[in-house]
Amino acid sequence: MRYVSTRGAAPPQSFAEMLLAGLAPDGGLYLPEAWPHFTPAEIAAFAGQPYAQVARAVLGRLVGDSFTAAERAVDIADAYAGFDDKRIAPLVEIGPNLFLMELFHGPTFAFKDIALQVLGRMFARALAKRGGRATVLAATSGDTGSAAIAALGGLDNIEVFVLHPKGRVSEVQRRQMTTAPFANVHNIAVEGTFDDCQAIVKALFAETDFAHAVNLTAVNSINFARIAAQSVYYFTAAAQLGAPPVFVVPTGNFGDVFAGEAAMRMGLAIEKLVVATNANDIMARALNDGIYASGNAQPTLSPSMDIQVASNFERALFEASGRDAGWVRAAMTQFAKEKSLALPENVRAALRVRYAAARCDDEQTLAAIARVHAQTGRLIDPHTAVAVATADNFKLHSKGPVVVLSTAHPAKFPDAVRQATGLIPPMPPRLSAVLSASEKIVDLSADKGLVQALIEARLPPS
Ligand SMILES: *Cc1c(COP(=O)(O)O)cnc(C)c1O
Repeated sequence: MRYVSTRGAAPPQSFAEMLLAGLAPDGGLYLPEAWPHFTPAEIAAFAGQPYAQVARAVLGRLVGDSFTAAERAVDIADAYAGFDDKRIAPLVEIGPNLFLMELFHGPTFAFKDIALQVLGRMFARALAKRGGRATVLAATSGDTGSAAIAALGGLDNIEVFVLHPKGRVSEVQRRQMTTAPFANVHNIAVEGTFDDCQAIVKALFAETDFAHAVNLTAVNSINFARIAAQSVYYFTAAAQLGAPPVFVVPTGNFGDVFAGEAAMRMGLAIEKLVVATNANDIMARALNDGIYASGNAQPTLSPSMDIQVASNFERALFEASGRDAGWVRAAMTQFAKEKSLALPENVRAALRVRYAAARCDDEQTLAAIARVHAQTGRLIDPHTAVAVATADNFKLHSKGPVVVLSTAHPAKFPDAVRQATGLIPPMPPRLSAVLSASEKIVDLSADKGLVQALIEARLPPS
């Protein structure tokens, strides 16, 4: 299995090379040269299998010969051994044919653990095989940072630099990152928005001399290994339900929902992927109006989705255009320059086959938290609530099962939950431990030169 860039101007790579590189050198995102395919019988057989077994099957086809089956099995088993629910991505019925898929049972209580716990282990293995060091640079709107730190903290030959927008992540989210006791972890609070953080990351990757000198790499959802690992729970859910579901996905950077498209392209029958956004609705506007245009990110109750540029949309555009890398390259160049892109009708039509989209504001988010609590006694986090509110709208048109991806534990966002219900969600002890630990953090203005200088100063001498 080889990986090609959405912009068509980078050489194909193996899974391991793609994993270590993150972003393709032409600025594009990697995708499999050809999607592997699972037959309906193979997918039906996933029902009732342990999560790790399905993960081995799905990742096996995507990893190719970068790792042996035995290596893969060890990494996947280790990745999920520490989850506090052995089903890893359990389905919970909260209404007639309406399910929550709980994706927050990993070490940092958000769905990003599911992919990053696997990615970290594969990354360390690939790096050991290749030799040398790696510098991981990540921008986070909240949950990627802690999940990346939990996955990569303490590993040999890897330094981890995490940029978050100062004051725009919850206290629990910040502390989960800044209290990590690892010498190879460096937290930077940037005076700006998540998009400023992401822009700095992109700009530093574009500094090719620097990027090469420090072996710069990314583990955010532009890394296809994340998408690969996340596609697994679409298979387990659909196999378990036995009918093509509608998946409603609280969306920021479009990684999680694109993992659903990946599953579809690997043969999984999905009725629809519903993109649920908060007031930062670039994706709802792009999919409904055909104009992909970024505005100013505004803070909401669901901060991990406060995004105005959805990097992974490039992957969906590549597929929707019939893998027209030349068009993607021109389109992304135009979007970078003008902050706006009109999608051609053929691309819009192809996107409509898979996706629907809607936005929901903070008021509806709070109402959804309150309603689910009143009806089921469960507390849900505000990201999940954005999707629940959206699901309520779309359910009217669906006869099959509707699965809402529940992406964070409610205790990570106690303020929103309390505002909606008057209740403070009980904190799992593993989470409350971060509230008293001491923090390690550097504040910087949104300036890529300052971030570059800090990275150079912090790297161990080679
Ligand atoms: C990251 C995150 C999202 C958004 O996922 P994307 O892959 O960026 O679309 C939604 N909810 C939570 C809790 C998250 O941490």
